[in-house]
Amino acid sequence: MASQGTSSPTTAQHATKNPSDISSLKPFYVEHVTESHPFLENEKENKDGLPLSQPEHNRVMKALGTAITWTQKAISALKDPSGWSGETKKLLSDLFPGGLQEPSQRQALKTQLTYTLDGLQKLRDDNASTVRSMSSEHRLGLSMSMIDPETHDKIRFDRMYISEKSLKDRPDDALAATVLHEASHTYADTSDNWKTRPNHSSPPDGKPSFSFDTHLSVPDPVSGKSHSDLTFTNAVNNASTVEVATEVLAGVPFNSIA
Ligand SMILES: [Zn+2]
Repeated sequence: MASQGTSSPTTAQHATKNPSDISSLKPFYVEHVTESHPFLENEKENKDGLPLSQPEHNRVMKALGTAITWTQKAISALKDPSGWSGETKKLLSDLFPGGLQEPSQRQALKTQLTYTLDGLQKLRDDNASTVRSMSSEHRLGLSMSMIDPETHDKIRFDRMYISEKSLKDRPDDALAATVLHEASHTYADTSDNWKTRPNHSSPPDGKPSFSFDTHLSVPDPVSGKSHSDLTFTNAVNNASTVEVATEVLAGVPFNSIA
């Protein structure tokens, strides 16, 4: 399904390489992060991370299972917008200009979710062998891409990092959301255009809603440009949007969305 051509706005290469290839491209790699601290130069040397402990591995496998279930449910929900509740429609309108009302918009998100799902299933089938823990205090998770010095193509690597703190402290659903976010970077080539934040307290109109931190935009490593305008194309290529839209479409209660 993922290989079918569509009018999706994504420009993903969808090609990932074995982690053993990292060293040859070391000077060019860039990172994508889940939380509020964009790429930090002095963290490059941490790229190998640490192997997961047994309790950490258990949590990652559980999170992968949850993220897979959510993504499958979300893909299914995209087939039938007439079944969306009022709250679902409202939240999707917050997340995407046009609210996924157009079939082409739903197809574009479905393409992203299909690639992400394929990646999540691969990670689970591989027994999470390419997932590492990292010691960052400021990040939830991290994935990696590099720029090929010859072709200037962006290359994604099959490796995911989750912070030790997340693996220890984050609730199950929040950890699953982090795994989903990072998998969307690696397998659907999403960017960090902005961060979506659920308004859990005192929402402006008393209803569930999302707000946006566009100052967290990470420039595209190839073009150097940021894509923080709130357009549909930028939304469907934004990891944070893909992450929470999956939860909304899967029917995760709004109060559980981190
Ligand atoms: Zn990210």
